[in-house]
Amino acid sequence: MSVSESPICPLYIGGKWVSPENKTGSPVYNPSRGSIIASVPMCGATEVDAAVAAAKAAFPAWRDTPPNERAQVLFRVKILLEDAFEELCLGIATEHGKTLSEARGDLRRGIEVVEYACGIPSLLMGESLENIARGIDCHTDRHPLGVVAGICPFNFPALVPMWMWPIAIACGNTFLLKPSEKVPLTMQRVIQLLENAGLPPGVMNIIHGGRECVDAILEHPDVKAISFVGSTPVAREIHRKGTLHGKRVQAAGGAKNFIILMPDADVDRTVEAVKDGAFGCAGERCMAGSTAVAVGDAGERLLPALADIVKAMKVGPTDVKESQPDMGAVISAEHRTRVSGLIDAAEHSGATVLADGRPTQVKEAPEGFFLGPTLIDHVSESNPLMETEVFGPVLAVMRAKTLDDAIDAANRQAFGNGAAIFTNSGKAAREFRRRVSAGMVGINVGVPAPLAYFPFSGWNDSFFGDLHIQGKEGVEFYTQRKTTTTRWFGFGDGEIWAK
Ligand code: NAD
Repeated sequence: MSVSESPICPLYIGGKWVSPENKTGSPVYNPSRGSIIASVPMCGATEVDAAVAAAKAAFPAWRDTPPNERAQVLFRVKILLEDAFEELCLGIATEHGKTLSEARGDLRRGIEVVEYACGIPSLLMGESLENIARGIDCHTDRHPLGVVAGICPFNFPALVPMWMWPIAIACGNTFLLKPSEKVPLTMQRVIQLLENAGLPPGVMNIIHGGRECVDAILEHPDVKAISFVGSTPVAREIHRKGTLHGKRVQAAGGAKNFIILMPDADVDRTVEAVKDGAFGCAGERCMAGSTAVAVGDAGERLLPALADIVKAMKVGPTDVKESQPDMGAVISAEHRTRVSGLIDAAEHSGATVLADGRPTQVKEAPEGFFLGPTLIDHVSESNPLMETEVFGPVLAVMRAKTLDDAIDAANRQAFGNGAAIFTNSGKAAREFRRRVSAGMVGINVGVPAPLAYFPFSGWNDSFFGDLHIQGKEGVEFYTQRKTTTTRWFGFGDGEIWAK
């Protein structure tokens, strides 16, 4: 199917599905087959204006809806998401290429944010202090910001948008979502569930597009805050432009997460966790453990077993429920070429390829965007592979003499999302946890991604802003505090009713 023949993803504005006319269509692929399954209209300022106007109109009534009533809508959303769980997961696997089991993780983590947001009456509670001076009380409470927007990457079609809208709307804001143009279908289905749950028109709106659309959101005076998740150069720019236009911005960027392998690490469990961390979701994860540093003789102890299980991984299409591979396709043919080129460059620079994923042909899906899992040893810090986020099924292994050297290498790179250590030494683990310059740390955990009630707390070039996504920081981000000071006239004048 060509782009022009494929079904167009409509926008959702003010409770109505709208198909904009005369827009360039961007293809949505099924990466397992390399086929086009839908087309996304690349919108601009006109459509953004309409969506923001709808969200703005819906704001006063939604703000004034009591928090427990807003929570009731989210309870219904949670039930509808559970009912549609398997159907949604197959949709995620189809438009993204990840396995069904990874799609289940994607949606399950997203549903946990909805569950967290169901507790909004408690989360919104303020603070008070009586008698700050004689006859004067003070209290502070939280108020929504107004229209807030979310701009999402392709790699978690359910979870990343659901990091944003459940907490934002629970707090009383109205929302404008721009999903990734590569994976717009999952949220389209979720919006139908929000409608069925009784979310009032205009509280949630969807718009599609790329840079032009994002720029219109960044410049719109009625958008009060922006949550962004994507690559570092774009995150940095969104933060700069958004704050320049007076908005509150949280912008999560890319990553290069280091995994330190100590000589005393448990071999079987470490090898399994490192494999999952590097190759889960074909490495297209901001928390992927993409660089291992083997300390002392850890390489000799762990790498042979790791190479064996990596070579045994089955790669294939993920859009058939009954037969699932260990790893699916990457998002596009271009991305496969890019990652493949980085492996070539790493090899030419002296690294040793222990398991080679280039090129992968899958018989039952010859057009799919497949690249097998690749394990590369003896990668030096000056290797081209270390200069960029790979975001594919590639695990680079560096060697270090001491834990100090390994931590220093991890801290020399620009990102700071996640880092992990595998060891049986409490002393090594504590030293690592304290000194590594990353915001999410795993000890014998390969992918230390926090659940909904904790912040997704990236550091350095992995995050731009002050308040992180999720958890209490998420509530803080989507609200502003009001502090009220009340003087009670007549204080100390005697019994009130006797006067
Ligand atoms: P991307 O930066 O290319 O796109 C993200 C979003 O920004 C999309 O909606 C896209 O339409 C828009 N966009 C792209 N270029 C733009 C531009 N020049 N101006 C304005 N908007 C633009 O990212 P991606 O390839 O979709 O996703 C992968 C990236 O996301 C990786 O770098 C990954 O590490 C990162 N990511 C980070 C986290 C985190 O929590 N830190 C989580 C998930 C993904």
